[in-house]
Amino acid sequence: MVTVGITILSMSVFGIIASKIMLDSARAEQRAHLTDLANDIFLNIPKIYSKDSLKQYLNKIKNELHREKITLVAIENNQIIYTSNNDFIKSLSTADLEIIDFSETDETRFISISGIRNLYLTKSIQEMGYRLLLLEPEISIDHPISTTLIKRLITSGIIIIWVAIWIALIFGSVIAKHLKEKNIALKHQAMHDTLTNLPNRTLLMDRLKQAQLNAHRQLSPFVLIILDLDSFKEINDTMGHHYGDELLIEVSKRLLESIRENDSLARLGGDEFAILLPNTDYKGAEICAHRVLSILEQPLEINETLIEVKASLGITLYPEHGDSTDMIMQHADVAMYQAKQIGGGSYSFYDPALDSNSVRRLKLMTNLRHAIENNLLNVHYQPMIDQQQNCTIAVEVLARWNDKELGFIPPDEFIPIAEQTGTIRLLTLWVLNQATLDASHWKTLGHNIKIAVNISTNCLQDASFPDKINQIISKNNILASDIELEITESALMSDLSRARQILDQLHELGFKISIDDFGTGFSSLAYLKQLPVDVLKIDRSFVEDMKNNKSDAAIVNTIIQLAHSLNCKVVAEGIEDAETYDLLKELNNDIAQGYLISRPIPANDLEQWLETSVWKPRQSVIEETKLSGT
Ligand code: C2E
Ligand code: CA
Ligand code: CA
Repeated sequence: MVTVGITILSMSVFGIIASKIMLDSARAEQRAHLTDLANDIFLNIPKIYSKDSLKQYLNKIKNELHREKITLVAIENNQIIYTSNNDFIKSLSTADLEIIDFSETDETRFISISGIRNLYLTKSIQEMGYRLLLLEPEISIDHPISTTLIKRLITSGIIIIWVAIWIALIFGSVIAKHLKEKNIALKHQAMHDTLTNLPNRTLLMDRLKQAQLNAHRQLSPFVLIILDLDSFKEINDTMGHHYGDELLIEVSKRLLESIRENDSLARLGGDEFAILLPNTDYKGAEICAHRVLSILEQPLEINETLIEVKASLGITLYPEHGDSTDMIMQHADVAMYQAKQIGGGSYSFYDPALDSNSVRRLKLMTNLRHAIENNLLNVHYQPMIDQQQNCTIAVEVLARWNDKELGFIPPDEFIPIAEQTGTIRLLTLWVLNQATLDASHWKTLGHNIKIAVNISTNCLQDASFPDKINQIISKNNILASDIELEITESALMSDLSRARQILDQLHELGFKISIDDFGTGFSSLAYLKQLPVDVLKIDRSFVEDMKNNKSDAAIVNTIIQLAHSLNCKVVAEGIEDAETYDLLKELNNDIAQGYLISRPIPANDLEQWLETSVWKPRQSVIEETKLSGT
């Protein structure tokens, strides 16, 4: 509208200026032409003596002129004796006649007659006493030239405005359509996940609210299932993100197949999905959970490789498990972790009894990953003493975590969580990197001490693990033979066949293998013979009370004998008093570890301890008493 207004205004201003210019030039032309005419007429006047011949002459001229508006007047003694236009002369008063300037000049002059400006020129014919007057109305604003011009300008203005309005309308509708489409696309984007095109968390929350309203109106419950893929992280890490993305797309297709038309499937992020089942109760939820699990059980083909995925499902019912959509979401999450805890590949209904525990676990899981990725963990070192030589030959590296929000978390709490979620692989590599960095620094101080690192069996399921740790130690200039990998006996026995291959590889690379918590895992001695074991580490539960408990002492003694007969070294951990220390020495134990010698301490404290302790490392001795016993 503003544009249209401006166009009209500018066209009018332009029209007025243009018509004014045209009018001025037409008037100048009129004046020049009239002067020429007057000269012509006046100069060629023949000698006329009678009034009649004068009239005849003037009539003739008037007819030849073809200028209608020109009036010729002859005056004698202030009396009009001839006029070529009687009507006009009627309006010429005697007062007007008096204003007329009859002095001789070639210039046109003006006189206003009946409100109209007239141009005039005069001539006195002295000899005869006549005066001639030539009059013509000046070209006015409604002169054909300016009116035509104004008309044309107005017409073109109207056409321009009309065209402009149409263009604006067409463009407007095109832009409006484009904006509408863009708006729809943006709205879709804001409500959907870009990878799978499934509704996202925002849209799910909307639908949950809708389901809640319906549930109130129709007094019918609804169900929310939260689904998390088991070991997706590992697949992503080993096969790459592109493969992981393809897997998520395939899984989302499968899940869509397993729900009804009225149900909603959403992707909450990562490998987490949600299924909303309106008008569904406990039974319906169970049926859906079974269907989802069985449809996922069939292997997926991605990039020509078959892969099996499992998922953990957490189920909540509205209103039974929460009176708000937020509660329903949160409790479904808790239930999902309960399902994971069972071992994955299953579903769990929300159980309030386990809730407080699970919320903390949930926090620990998220915070731990963040802590590892942001270097917020610590390591402590606990010295290991050669009992025959009385010197430190190694340190065990133990992870420490002081969380900003949750405070100090003991490893017995966060390690099992890290194992269940697969975060343990990341943690192990982080710990190994930190310990080998410190060890290379100790080397510069002259201490050549070995490092015992705790390895979860979870790591032994990863075929790339030997490579990964080899890269870390060589980057930090540490030899594989300076690293002892402690693997818990019980864990090792539960998945021996897969772990064995990797253990063999590690052993071939030169790493020492130690069986941790030995005596608690009921390992078959036949298996022990087949494994590349270098060290047996007696579980501290036997060591703790061996000075008072004869059976414990007997078990310790047996393990020492067994180790030596298998050509392995023995470590006794959990030594808290000198009596136990001496007892172990008598039993021919090789290496001692426990609070008596030192608690696990930070790297800085260890440096000082190594300088001042009675068990300070002895370079020459270390060389002779390598853990391998060679
Ligand atoms: P572990 O491998 O058996 O480690 C020895 C544990 O015994 C340590 O507990 C240590 O502080 C404790 N200890 C040492 N000497 C004595 C003693 O004289 N008396 C008593 N009562 N305890 C003693 P911590 O540091 O709490 O670690 C607990 C467990 O957490 C470890 O048991 C290990 O299984 C796990 N862990 C710790 N750090 C890591 C790690 O980096 N990776 C893995 N996979 N596991 C780790
Ligand atoms: Ca250990
Ligand atoms: Ca142990």
